[in-house]
Amino acid sequence: MGDPRGFLKVRHRHELAERPVEERIKDWNDVHAESGLQPWTKEQAARCMDCGTPFCMSGCPLGNIIPEWNDLVRMGQWQEAYDRLSMTNNFPEVTGRICPALCESACVLGIHQPPTMIKNDECTIIDQAWDLKYVKPLPPERTSDQTVAVVGSGPAGLACAQQLTRAGHTVVVYERDDEVGGLMRYGIPNFKLEKGLLDRRVAQMEAEGTRFRTNVEVGKDISWDELQSRYDAVVVAIGSTVPRDMKLPGRELDGIHFAMEFLPDATRRIYGKKPVHDLTAKDKHVVIIGGGDTGSDCLGTSIRQGAKDVTVLQIMPQEPTSRPDSQPWPTFARLYQKTSSMEEGGEYVYNTDSVNFVGTPEQEAKVSIETGTQTEGFVADEHGHVTGLKVVSVAPGDDGPFTRQPGTERVLPADLVLISVGFLHPDTDTLLEQLPVELDGRGNVARDDSYATSRDGVFVCGDAGRGQSLVVWAIAEGRSCAAAVDRYLTGATELPAPIVAS
Ligand code: FAD
Ligand code: SF4
Repeated sequence: MGDPRGFLKVRHRHELAERPVEERIKDWNDVHAESGLQPWTKEQAARCMDCGTPFCMSGCPLGNIIPEWNDLVRMGQWQEAYDRLSMTNNFPEVTGRICPALCESACVLGIHQPPTMIKNDECTIIDQAWDLKYVKPLPPERTSDQTVAVVGSGPAGLACAQQLTRAGHTVVVYERDDEVGGLMRYGIPNFKLEKGLLDRRVAQMEAEGTRFRTNVEVGKDISWDELQSRYDAVVVAIGSTVPRDMKLPGRELDGIHFAMEFLPDATRRIYGKKPVHDLTAKDKHVVIIGGGDTGSDCLGTSIRQGAKDVTVLQIMPQEPTSRPDSQPWPTFARLYQKTSSMEEGGEYVYNTDSVNFVGTPEQEAKVSIETGTQTEGFVADEHGHVTGLKVVSVAPGDDGPFTRQPGTERVLPADLVLISVGFLHPDTDTLLEQLPVELDGRGNVARDDSYATSRDGVFVCGDAGRGQSLVVWAIAEGRSCAAAVDRYLTGATELPAPIVAS
């Protein structure tokens, strides 16, 4: 298998071209200029060394059979490549676009050359498969008389539902939003993941027999205990949606919002839906606190909405964007990644902590720079609006790696502040009242290593059990949880379980 000299003939990666910045910030379409089969796709796939121990596969939570599909891509055997890919991944059109590609960071070729283009191969295979009409509904040959309710339609819930439907069970997915997809629908912006990709997958699932109930919040519109009495098993796939707050003086001012109040509105507007919080960055000084994936998505969205300027604050130092010569081996996937939004404008400010919000007029708390505690001053009046954020530089020092540096305080102008510092745990208020399950020490729904909660017949997968994570982990958990539910219902299972719960 493979071209044994492929990696010697082509030593570079052909990174997927993006559209020019000035063009793409005028619309909400995918930032890439290229997609699907390209003139260079096969020679890039031929760089795979077909390693005896393919570290790429163990790097992928789904256990994707990467060397096999790399070779099938090299030979242009799209049906076979699609057959291999769909054995392990329910939604490769998503991971092929937005996964940080843990597999590429684990690729052995990466020790002495840039790694193979696994993520792009995945995307090309599935795009070819849709174009060539290989992707068809796979309804079960036999149906069981068992029923499952899946609560939450993010990647974990959808993967779980698709596996269980194909195993013959009657599966109903409940979603409190008006559309299916979880964070793939209203969190991740359209310029990273166009929503038509989700629609055609949902249509496939419907044709297989999965039923969807949108605009239904379990716990309010139907209680959790009623759900359990109606179904043979319940899967909790509600994500990790409670945001971490920045409880700084002045937090009460208007104009300070969580990222997930801002991002969904942008997508809702693109698709002609009514925004929920009616937020826009247009003509505003925007400050984004937190420079991870979510912060970067807020940046790209603010730029497209016509912000006056955007500052992204990060307490951490800037990460290197290329691997130093002293560190040649594969490493943590996200370390050297730049996002497309970073090239589009705005300013990243590193080594900087937030002190307090400043409001109108002259409303500013007096805060001790060293301790961050408020020493005197106002509590912002409820009608005030944010005008700025006081920040201070940090450096390694007596108080640890982020010791505040007196004398470096300054105020960044801000009419819109977006808090993007992560998520704490799932929203379990109604679940705990109506169907008590145990939580773990972080507030996630506790489970054993086969996704069973403390309540018989109730399972949990995705961010709700694992904590805030990635789409690829959510799909892997959804698949594994489906296998556990199938075994619970029937006593045995042939469904694959790529990972145990952690
Ligand atoms: P979610 O996708 O959060 O879905 C949970 C669903 O449950 C939601 O639709 C919610 O409405 C629904 N729900 C909750 N409670 C109820 C209830 N009581 N009744 C009915 N429905 C309910 N990961 C990547 O791999 N790559 C990226 O580029 C990336 N970008 C991201 C950008 C942003 C802005 C965010 C916030 C996250 C990003 N992630 C990314 C992380 C990724 O989206 C999540 O890890 C993943 O979506 C988790 O999947 P999930 O199915 O567990 O939960
Ligand atoms: Fe190919 Fe890299 Fe996997 Fe080796 S580790 S089989 S080179 S993709």
